[in-house]
Amino acid sequence: MMIERRSLAGVEKATLIERDQHPISRKQISPSALKVLYKLGNEGFYAYLVGGGVRDLLLGNKPKDFDIATNATPDELKRLFRNSRIIGRRFKIVHIRFGREIIEVTTFRAHHGAQNQIDDSVSRRQIQGLDSAHSSAGMILRDNVYGDIDEDALRRDFTVNALYYTTNNFQVLDFCTGMEDLRTRQIRMIGDPAERYKEDPVRMLRALRFSAKLDFSIEDNTGRPIKELAHLLESISPARLFDETLKLLTGGYAVRTFALLREYKLGQYLFAPTLEALEKTEEAACKLVDLALRNTDLRLAEGKSVTPAFLFAALLWPVLRQGIARESASLDSPYQLFQQVANQVIVAQLKYTAVPKRFTAATREIWELQLRFEKRNRRSIESAFNHPRFRAAYDFLLLREESGENLDALGQWWTDFQNSDTKRRTELITALARPRTRRRRRSKRKSKGTTE
Ligand code: ATP
Ligand code: MG
Repeated sequence: MMIERRSLAGVEKATLIERDQHPISRKQISPSALKVLYKLGNEGFYAYLVGGGVRDLLLGNKPKDFDIATNATPDELKRLFRNSRIIGRRFKIVHIRFGREIIEVTTFRAHHGAQNQIDDSVSRRQIQGLDSAHSSAGMILRDNVYGDIDEDALRRDFTVNALYYTTNNFQVLDFCTGMEDLRTRQIRMIGDPAERYKEDPVRMLRALRFSAKLDFSIEDNTGRPIKELAHLLESISPARLFDETLKLLTGGYAVRTFALLREYKLGQYLFAPTLEALEKTEEAACKLVDLALRNTDLRLAEGKSVTPAFLFAALLWPVLRQGIARESASLDSPYQLFQQVANQVIVAQLKYTAVPKRFTAATREIWELQLRFEKRNRRSIESAFNHPRFRAAYDFLLLREESGENLDALGQWWTDFQNSDTKRRTELITALARPRTRRRRRSKRKSKGTTE
């Protein structure tokens, strides 16, 4: 059944890339996203794939998720899709759930300036009241002014994120210089970069994230204002900064991203204590952070999971070590001292990024297990080995050694222990219980190590 409808306002402003001029095929699009696109089309709405999905398909990469933009309002979407939920305050977004997959759908939005020029356009439906708001610094607080597709394109962040794909005639629509910038591999802000960063400072982080992930350069005008405006990140909630930090470090390009964060002076708004500690610390601590980021990228490349708890354990390790060294004259027992400093370190980090409790608890456990690993009496060995966080903590131990911390072949001992049967494990523990033997064996091992 064909539904008669007027053509979509604003669409005439796009450069059209026909089906045979681009590589996107429907087979690469998730069936759930296709369902949403078709259903909206059948109901008389316009709907497009947009954002990272289109960008990544055009680059021949596998998209992380699929975002859809439409002229249906959130309420209309809610009515059409039983499995949907309206989320977000700053932006109203509709999440449509298909099993484990979530398709994010947004209604075409106008850029903010547009509210001052409201005309009689039928497609612009500004609902009275609180649909748009700026802070005194020009930051967008709410952004629910609906607009035409061309306006929707121009209020997106980067040109390569503002390409639209339609299943109607399989065209790609480009309202700025998206296709050209994909070709020349550049991250280019739409509009005036400084102004757009002031509207939403997180765009500075996004510029670096996409540059690292896609291996694109940051176009000059887009990169230039960042250092000067970096401080605007102070106005972003620690909860949002945590989300962004995770995306920055678990996108598969943590090493590259971390370097960019330092270069553009944005890192100090996400993990200042870490960067300060790295400035004045010994080699090993720097190397540990570097190795942890490398490891994260490797694991993700192999399709393995990474936990934020491990990442934060590593990022904050130099801070923890320095804190302990500083306070080591205190009369507390080493364990109390550790507890106290670990608390301070985590509390200090939460001012930057609101790491959820479940992760900070696990970070602390990874650290605590380091103490038990080092202690190696019968009780600490058993409790460490049976601890749910044993694996992560053991990996962390190996990372410490690899980074150059001198732990007297502790990692090897724990490797042997894990690889042994019960009888051999008892022998390993008993050998430790004889201090003399231990000392001799240790010094032997050490001298072996130094002759390398
Ligand atoms: P990813 O591969 O990480 O999913 P993405 O480009 O899809 O990358 P999302 O965060 O999923 O990024 O956002 C989807 C789209 O929404 C973006 O491509 C961009 O067009 C738009 N967008 C997201 N965040 C912003 C922002 N802060 N300012 C302007 N536009 C944004
Ligand atoms: Mg996306």
